[in-house]
Amino acid sequence: MKIKFCGGTEEVTGANYLIEYKDIKFLIDCGLIQRENVCEIENFEDFPYNPEEIKFVLITHAHLDHIGRLPKLFYDGFKGEIISTLPTKDLAKEILLDANKVIYEKCKNLNLNVEKIYNEETVEKILNKWRTVNYHEIIKIEDLEIEFFDAGHILGSAFIKIKDENKKVVFSGDLGNIDPILKPTEPLPNCDYLILESTYGDRFHENLENRKDILEDIIENTIKEKRALIIPAFALERSQEVLYDIVDLIENKKVPEVKIFLDSPLAVRIFRIYDKYPEFFNEEAKNFFVHRDLVDLNYVEIIYEAEEFYKIVNFPNPKIIISSSGMLQGGRIINVIKNFIEDEKTTILFVGYQTKGSLGRKLLEGAKEIYLDNEKYNVKAKIEKLLSYSGHKDQKALIDWIFPRRFEIKKIYLVQGEENAKRVLKFKIQDYLGINVEIPYKNQEIDL
Ligand SMILES: [Zn+2]
Repeated sequence: MKIKFCGGTEEVTGANYLIEYKDIKFLIDCGLIQRENVCEIENFEDFPYNPEEIKFVLITHAHLDHIGRLPKLFYDGFKGEIISTLPTKDLAKEILLDANKVIYEKCKNLNLNVEKIYNEETVEKILNKWRTVNYHEIIKIEDLEIEFFDAGHILGSAFIKIKDENKKVVFSGDLGNIDPILKPTEPLPNCDYLILESTYGDRFHENLENRKDILEDIIENTIKEKRALIIPAFALERSQEVLYDIVDLIENKKVPEVKIFLDSPLAVRIFRIYDKYPEFFNEEAKNFFVHRDLVDLNYVEIIYEAEEFYKIVNFPNPKIIISSSGMLQGGRIINVIKNFIEDEKTTILFVGYQTKGSLGRKLLEGAKEIYLDNEKYNVKAKIEKLLSYSGHKDQKALIDWIFPRRFEIKKIYLVQGEENAKRVLKFKIQDYLGINVEIPYKNQEIDL
């Protein structure tokens, strides 16, 4: 078995791994490269393989940095199948359709054939070629056995085990943190080689155990001081998690009822997909959702059209506004920020990682003034963070996950992390678990 690390080596995003086995070639993930921009120009460059020769693509989960180059793969001649869990397919449809708009907006002036690659027709074509599998259903291809395990990262997410005659390889995809809705990550099965994500390889989640208590305090303050609480959150997973925790606090009378605006049509569409798959939830969440539909509660109001934004502005404090994108890199949240950031009665609560260069990062680092559409805004709002709502395992959780298999694993390859995260995690694994670790470079090939 040969593996080529075609993406996900230099950064967290752009996961793309080519596997050659006997006379078949297939991929694991085909993700968009995203740094400060939603979409980098490299995404339109040729793949380091011929897409026509690829038989199939295994998809770990529906985040754009794992599926966002599928349209390009089809455009370049791929004719095989996509394989994933059923929720991943459903979510991928919404994420790809939404990406069409965003990528077109960002790249339309670059002469890159964007509209020919990212359009509804291509998404349709991709979905027609998309086959679904259950966790633990074994797919047999020649002498290979492929198995999906629950990664607990987002709905339907998987880590994937590939077994040939004499070895087993696991691709971690992204591995979930403690999630209010989903089941925890399944234990790592016996394997010889592990391709491991390292997003939080050098960090520890603060306040992981008591994040809901902190959220409770922040909401209590919002109500007592009649504030507007703005929570920028990604439409997929983070919006669902945060809204679920807030509603749970209200329904259990830990905090008084308060108006919540969900200012993200994509998040609502994703909620509808969640509704279809309660068997993927943990017991507590399953019981909760049997009795309630989060987006139909009378104190939760959905803002479908951008023109309805006045409803948020006109509603008197206290109120909570959940809007995306999570790092303030565009989307509805920009309008929210423009309207509320100069008001001392506003709290902005960050619940996820803010990448370098993003507006979210600047605010977290204490910026006193910011520019939006060339207009200056003074930051009067109070900035708070609760970053342990992250969807990724931190260093400790990664080590704990590998620990039971430390005598079986021959080597670990670190991917999907920034330079420092990989370096720190490498030493930690070597030191503490005694496993050999390599950090592959872009397009490196290894023979297993
Ligand atoms: Zn992910």
